[in-house]
Amino acid sequence: MAKDTPPKTYDLFVIGGGINGCGIARDAAGRGMSVALAEMDDLASATSSASTKLFHGGLRYLEYLEINLVRHALKEREVLLSAMPHISWPMRFVLPYSPDMRFEGETPVSRILARVMPWMKGRRPAWMIRLGLFMYDHLGGRKILPATGTLNLQDAPEGAPLIDKFRKAYEYSDCWIEDSRLVVLNARDARQRGARIMVRTRVEGAQRQGDHWNITVRDVETDTCEIVRARMLVNAAGPWVGDIIHQKLNLKSNESVRLVRGSHIVTRRLYDHDKCYFFQGTDGRIVFAIPYETDFTLIGTTEAEHGDPHMRPECTPQEQAYLIDFANRYFRQQISVDDVVWTYSGVRPLYDDGASSATAATRDYTLKVDAMDGAPILNIFGGKITTYRKLAEDAMDRIVPFFPGTSGHWTAGVALPGGDFPVNGVEALIGRLMANYPFLDRFWARRLIRAYGTEAWDVLGAAKDKSDLGHDFGATLSAREVKWLMAREYARTGEDVVWRRNKLGLRLSKDEIAQLDAWMQAERA
Ligand SMILES: Cc1cc2nc3c(=O)[nH]c(=O)nc-3n(C[C@H](O)[C@H](O)[C@H](O)COP(=O)(O)OP(=O)(O)OC[C@H]3O[C@@H](n4cnc5c(N)ncnc54)[C@H](O)[C@@H]3O)c2cc1C
Repeated sequence: MAKDTPPKTYDLFVIGGGINGCGIARDAAGRGMSVALAEMDDLASATSSASTKLFHGGLRYLEYLEINLVRHALKEREVLLSAMPHISWPMRFVLPYSPDMRFEGETPVSRILARVMPWMKGRRPAWMIRLGLFMYDHLGGRKILPATGTLNLQDAPEGAPLIDKFRKAYEYSDCWIEDSRLVVLNARDARQRGARIMVRTRVEGAQRQGDHWNITVRDVETDTCEIVRARMLVNAAGPWVGDIIHQKLNLKSNESVRLVRGSHIVTRRLYDHDKCYFFQGTDGRIVFAIPYETDFTLIGTTEAEHGDPHMRPECTPQEQAYLIDFANRYFRQQISVDDVVWTYSGVRPLYDDGASSATAATRDYTLKVDAMDGAPILNIFGGKITTYRKLAEDAMDRIVPFFPGTSGHWTAGVALPGGDFPVNGVEALIGRLMANYPFLDRFWARRLIRAYGTEAWDVLGAAKDKSDLGHDFGATLSAREVKWLMAREYARTGEDVVWRRNKLGLRLSKDEIAQLDAWMQAERA
């Protein structure tokens, strides 16, 4: 009987398990559409785990007059924060000021300034930063985040780690986001709403057949192929969006993507307070220094053209030297390459708008539907972690006309798994978790609440003592938690666990990670 049953035809097939693919899969599944998603590696294994991890409007984009992008992103910060108060939190950014600050190359604002005030050519004056911050405060309808302020660095603790040159600073708000957890939680929520999520599954090709697509997918672990049918394709392959269009699908299209690599370095903690620094360089670029994973400082990013999506991005020695030099022009404590404990690198899949430099290329997204030759495909270019939910809504606005009767927007204000508690409720949850599981220390309890929110209780189950959680892999990672990640969050390898489900890779040795991986492979066998 099964032989005669026609294969299921999904409404939507999403290529790519980064933030954009998973965000769209969740939105579509929540509207009752049947959805399948294929990710060739681990969820968030590409750009979506390699960002600076900020929900931000992008202060510097104001100099490129990307006012709409900044407005939308600013508004979105608080919508997202409320839906995921475990993996996202407000942060204050300290922007030290000195009169020798320069503009980034030839920005639209620097050109206007050079025309009306030729003596200011190339300079980024204090009044302009204040104006930018005023707009930043008011463009996005801020309700939760505190407003901009000024700091006297000679007295304020934020001045202590900096060299004497900096006497004054501005302070403003943005939010932190655990980028790879955001992706996994969207994928989980999509699955809970009925989507099929296939990891380690590569799309090899797809052909239009009348009103549907036949998509060939390969399970890269078993090396077996399957044909999946769908009425519409969504190409959310990030840096590979062009590879899908031209190589895998052989479509005619003039659209192209500009690949821009960005790298970060991580050092041991360089200062004691919990605020970030926004440093401006003599080349006009900006770099962030951010408190990271309690004991570390994250510094980034660089920008370099990246020719080929198949080339794994890595932080080059030149990029490391650039970031170290940048930090050393601000911090008293001078760092060297010996202080770098980890680096990571990602590729921005920017829409190629013909801009002269990588820095100037738009960070906004572009959505293109192609339905000329039969079943439709939606190609996604660019985007930011911050705008992923809006991008998914906009994508659905393009998709819905092909599926009359589909319901409307729903994701604003709907919590992601574990995020069903108030924005300021983290400390209370940590206290409750420690009361319920007295064997947890504060670091452990905080880590679990920041990762799993209200689901932390499910992760720990009926454990009365540490030993009830099974094998201890080090750094508070237990067998019970790893099993939970394998069963619920698609974790297949040690790397998935220690670099994307959490960042315990910073605390575990290579041997410990290898032991974890061997344990997981045995568990799967
Ligand atoms: C250095 C850097 C810093 C950034 N900082 C920020 C920030 O602070 N805030 C912010 O808002 N944004 C930031 N961004 C931007 C943001 O990270 C990206 O816009 C976003 O992650 C892109 O997501 P994506 O889903 O389009 O791509 P990806 O995350 O790359 O996902 C695409 C997925 O498609 C999969 N795929 C490709 N081909 C196939 C195939 N044939 N079959 C199956 N799967 C396939 C890939 O494996 C990949 O996982 C930053 C980007 C970079 C590079």
